[in-house]
Amino acid sequence: MFTSLAGSSVVVTGGSKGIGKGIAAVFAADGARLVLAGRDGVALEATAGQLRTEGAEVVTCVADVANPGDCARLASAAVDAYGGIDVLCANAGMFPEQPLAAMSPEDLEQTLGVNLKGTIFATQACLPALTASGRGRVVVTSSITGPITGVPGWAHYGASKAGQLGFVRAAAVELAPHAITVNAVLPGNVLTEGLAGMGEDYLAAMTRSIPLGRLGDVADIGHACLFLASREAGFITGQTIVVDGGQVLPEALA
Ligand code: NAP
Repeated sequence: MFTSLAGSSVVVTGGSKGIGKGIAAVFAADGARLVLAGRDGVALEATAGQLRTEGAEVVTCVADVANPGDCARLASAAVDAYGGIDVLCANAGMFPEQPLAAMSPEDLEQTLGVNLKGTIFATQACLPALTASGRGRVVVTSSITGPITGVPGWAHYGASKAGQLGFVRAAAVELAPHAITVNAVLPGNVLTEGLAGMGEDYLAAMTRSIPLGRLGDVADIGHACLFLASREAGFITGQTIVVDGGQVLPEALA
């Protein structure tokens, strides 16, 4: 039996849609108080409104994680709303397809800026409050793509997601004296607004390559994040959990 996170202050970047929305719903069901961040205020309020009708305490903050100033505003909004931050789910990310030969410096900067630098900026901004919490948790949404697998057209994305794990390991050691743990979940193919944009053929091909026979649900990732944020996971840091229905395991496609 895990101790409930009821009353904990939890920041979820990219909390308006997809996996972040799923993370928010799982934490809300456990009684956590939420701060959702994203660039689109209308989408954020729609998600927050939905969670509030289910009894959750939710505030929103329009913020681009690639902007350190926005991340500072986000951390302040959480402290203003709830008096502190116990958990940061650094989840915001983008995955535009771009063949290497056509990838511009701007394409590279954008993907690294949001996925990799954004993770670091959000963590830096929340650091004082996570330290004050005395049981701070950082849970990063990485991916199987990059750390374990490679997909043509996503070299920048794979680099950003593998880079997140380098950050996780160094930050875990650096922040351990403050009792802050830093871990990552590595989703496989999870049905989100972003993934749906890849088209039916892609989704069908991915589903065929997953031993458990289905795409992931956003709650599958939310539950892994909730575990890593729990008191009972307090001795786990610098680690990863793959949540992919077994997709990375087969030696050959059947
Ligand atoms: P999604 O459906 O496109 O949602 C992305 C979320 O991130 C939205 O809330 C979006 O809101 C927010 N976001 C994007 N850029 C942002 C920025 N610069 N600043 C703040 N928020 C930003 O994507 P998803 O599939 O849920 O992916 C979420 C995370 O999971 C990403 O890190 C992704 O790499 C990872 N992941 C996903 C899968 C999958 O199969 N879906 C697999 C492995 C890993 P706004 O657009 O309003 O800013």
